[in-house]
Amino acid sequence: MREQSHRENLRKMLHKKREEIIRSSAAGMKKFMSDENRQTIAAGQEQGDCSVFYQFEHMSCRQFDAQTESIRKIDLALKKLEEGIYGCCEECGEEISVERLKVIPFALLCLDCQETAEQQPRKRN
Ligand SMILES: [Zn+2]
Repeated sequence: MREQSHRENLRKMLHKKREEIIRSSAAGMKKFMSDENRQTIAAGQEQGDCSVFYQFEHMSCRQFDAQTESIRKIDLALKKLEEGIYGCCEECGEEISVERLKVIPFALLCLDCQETAEQQPRKRN
């Protein structure tokens, strides 16, 4: 029972975070376009489809990429929650600490693996 309500809380938290991201990106779009265009993009983003963004070349694609990526992670976390494997590190399979999940509810890696990933040299464009 307790487990159930814990999951329910996580689900709510993830949905809330998702809404926040969508809302903030919608606010960013407002500057650039009409309601109609904005809705097209918002609908695409809801489905994790970033391609519509590129139709609007004056927009910052990088910003929206980051938001779409966050939404994708949240969706993944929600899926994991359904499957009962939420909170396990993608890399090593260890449980991700609750403290970390509180800060980043859609974290896919534990702190150790995240740090390792960040330390790896990346190609710059
Ligand atoms: Zn790990």
